[in-house]
Amino acid sequence: MKPDAIDTKILEALMADGRASFREIAKRTSLTTPTVSARLARMTRAGLIKKFIPVLSADSVDRGVLAILTLKVESASAEKVAKTLAKLREVEDVYMTTGQNITLKVALNDVDGLESFLKRNLLGRPGVSVTSSQIITSVVKDEPPSLLPGLLTMKLNCDYCHEEVTRKRPYTIAAGSFHYYFCCKTCRKAYLDKYGSRLAKIGAD
Ligand SMILES: [Zn+2]
Repeated sequence: MKPDAIDTKILEALMADGRASFREIAKRTSLTTPTVSARLARMTRAGLIKKFIPVLSADSVDRGVLAILTLKVESASAEKVAKTLAKLREVEDVYMTTGQNITLKVALNDVDGLESFLKRNLLGRPGVSVTSSQIITSVVKDEPPSLLPGLLTMKLNCDYCHEEVTRKRPYTIAAGSFHYYFCCKTCRKAYLDKYGSRLAKIGAD
């Protein structure tokens, strides 16, 4: 399921100011506050919004030495290696790329830290060879993902059976400003049968 035009408007407002209140977002997007709150709740539940964090300026925060490492990995173990490396505190980004390569961005205290990082985590790991390691000399751009509405996807799970909703337009029940989503008519009906009386109290339609 993809966010629609309304979701995208809300996301854009939030990407510009992640601390904007529901009221402020509503004002900026010409939507109502309940709509903003319901849409955000849905996008958060669907896992589209992971978390709200401050974006630190690379210039003002001393992150020590940053390095880009490229590894060549045997195909059978590439994903496992990438996942293991992703768990390390020093590792900020992990990319699997074509040709069974893994590229990492690591943050270390100093240049010496790079050598010990390599020794500790990479050299001698079976099926893995370090093909290049470069120290970053200047960060020109390092921003969170930008919003490409056409490419956004989010998973929505059925509120009754919890299976993923694959329909473009899921079946819904609105209760006040909150929406419930269902994969099929049957689940929607089953949900109403089970919880209908409770929903009626909070104004379902
Ligand atoms: Zn279902």
